[in-house]
Amino acid sequence: MASPETFTTHSERDTFALGETVAATLQPGTFIMLHGDLGAGKTAFVRGLAAGLGANPDDVSSPTFVLIQHYKGRTPLVHVDLYRLETGAAIDDLGLEELASGAVVAIEWAERLPRAIEGSVTVKIDDLGGDARGITIEKGKTNNE
Ligand code: ADP
Ligand code: MG
Repeated sequence: MASPETFTTHSERDTFALGETVAATLQPGTFIMLHGDLGAGKTAFVRGLAAGLGANPDDVSSPTFVLIQHYKGRTPLVHVDLYRLETGAAIDDLGLEELASGAVVAIEWAERLPRAIEGSVTVKIDDLGGDARGITIEKGKTNNE
């Protein structure tokens, strides 16, 4: 099992750049499970993923009503934000496994998923105060370990 790697970023731009770097290592079909409080920088990281996958990062937002957004890139990116979902049943209906065929799927508030997805990449973002963020990335780990 891959050991976790921890990074400290000092700006939104840094977190974006880290996402961009990570994107280069991802195979289609990979789930990125993002954890962190509101304002931690999950969406900033996903914008970096978009850039690294050849999609337009400016198109990536925190959707208000849309749970799932698709972006075209060299590898397509699917962006899921579970913040507003309250029931496990509704999440069950999202059909996440199908979304991942040929795409990278980044999921904010991944702790709301009812079950783990094997082999996903877990990204945990901690607010260290000010603009500092601690970002731990663990590959090949299941979601709820
Ligand atoms: P989340 O999706 O986790 O709710 P966002 O990415 O939407 O968070 O917002 C993160 C906020 O924190 C932005 O306003 C961003 O400018 C700010 N910020 C400050 N420092 C950082 C950093 N090191 N990394 C990411 N965002 C940061
Ligand atoms: Mg967000």
